[in-house]
Amino acid sequence: MNDHKVIYLIPDDNGGAMWCEDPAPEPGMEEYDAIKYIKYEEIAARDRLINNVVDVLDELRLPHSTCDDCWYSCPKSEDGCCNDDVGAECNCGADEHNSIIDKLIKQARELVK
Ligand SMILES: [Zn+2]
Repeated sequence: MNDHKVIYLIPDDNGGAMWCEDPAPEPGMEEYDAIKYIKYEEIAARDRLINNVVDVLDELRLPHSTCDDCWYSCPKSEDGCCNDDVGAECNCGADEHNSIIDKLIKQARELVK
């Protein structure tokens, strides 16, 4: 058993492949020709980190703003807005902010599939 966290399978001179710690150890070799193997415990650690990042991102969601004077509240706030002329769309920035959070969470979850 070795203590490599990452090792590469690279093409050798005979049309086969060999294990190497460097994806392109010699001039003229392309790292894109290597296959990267990552030790399972490293992947599991990355998955835990990504899941923690997702939890933190989830906590960064913003509620729609509610003002004491409901005239200025976001139409999507729990109590709504008293000004019917503003429509029903978010005007406090929470939807835009939360959509960015949603995109980041979606991208992060793709990494742990
Ligand atoms: Zn809003």
